[in-house]
Amino acid sequence: MRPARALIDLQALRHNYRIAREVTGAKALAVIKADAYGHGAVRCAQALEAEADGFAVACIEEALELRSAGIRAPVLLLEGFFEADELALIVEHDFWCVVHSLWQLEAIEQAVLSKPITVWLKLDSGMHRVGLHPKDYPAAYQRLLASGKVAKIVLMSHFARADELHAQSSAEQVAVFEAARQGLAAEVSLRNSPAVLGWPEIQSDWVRPGIMLYGATPFEEVNAVAERLQPVMTLESKVISVRELPAGEPIGYGARFITDKPMRIGVVAMGYADGYPRQAPTGTPVLVAGKPSRLLGRVSMDMLCIDLTDVAEAGLGSTVELWGKNILASDVAKWADTIPYQIFCNLKRVPRLYSEG
Ligand SMILES: *Cc1c(COP(=O)(O)O)cnc(C)c1O
Repeated sequence: MRPARALIDLQALRHNYRIAREVTGAKALAVIKADAYGHGAVRCAQALEAEADGFAVACIEEALELRSAGIRAPVLLLEGFFEADELALIVEHDFWCVVHSLWQLEAIEQAVLSKPITVWLKLDSGMHRVGLHPKDYPAAYQRLLASGKVAKIVLMSHFARADELHAQSSAEQVAVFEAARQGLAAEVSLRNSPAVLGWPEIQSDWVRPGIMLYGATPFEEVNAVAERLQPVMTLESKVISVRELPAGEPIGYGARFITDKPMRIGVVAMGYADGYPRQAPTGTPVLVAGKPSRLLGRVSMDMLCIDLTDVAEAGLGSTVELWGKNILASDVAKWADTIPYQIFCNLKRVPRLYSEG
């Protein structure tokens, strides 16, 4: 069988979740949208369910997948419902529901619900993506209460630039949030991973860690808490062919790398159809036979080439780590001009193998 695979360390996932709780003292919804950022939502939810305060997903399809797998913990729909008829399922399965727009508020007011629901009322405190305008926020809260359709409201907002530790914008968003929620007696949820790791002064009864659960840092800079995270996913494969080439020989599509001396090249069963970024250039780090090496030339659909010239112990059948505990996904992301979020979410085709660490 093709040797490409993603090893998922569930013990590391729990370790990272505990850090989110420990450094904030808050309740934490484990964000497992987009199939747990490529790690497998059901398996991740099962691994966390005994201790997690709840989960967050993007939409009801993702939430239903968790319920079908027997997950009973609270599940928050981060974008709420897209159509009002989802409210019946939200009641039936006890999902918690973000309300980010007035049309959703009106739909709740007009709905016939057999049980009141839990709403996370989202404020647009400056990101200008979704969320209610500050001037509409207190009235929306009162209307939800008055509707009789809502059992509990959590006040929430989301940061645009919490990953930029020197930007003013997060503090400004907090100020907008605090002004809009004056006099509203409810729990608050503000912090995503960068705010959990980098903004200890921001108060939040509930935090919403995503990327940190998977052991990747959202920051460019070194961060002391992020240093304690353990990578959860190891993407690995094997060398399936080795060639010795003299200087001046092209490698791969487009001849994007030309040997500059006699070289030993390893071909690895891994390509962009597996989610390895095609944008990764020559020099992107890999680990082969436990030793650091580098990508050479263009990544193709099913294969890529690496440099074995100085790794005498590596050869046919050697294991290659593309990212994981040694080669950080956030570093690969930097080389490929993207972010670890996308590196993980793009994973496909390779089987995921789960372990307890
Ligand atoms: C995705 C998401 C999160 C998690 O963000 P991370 O940066 O991965 O921690 C938190 N809150 C909301 C509203 C989200 O959409």
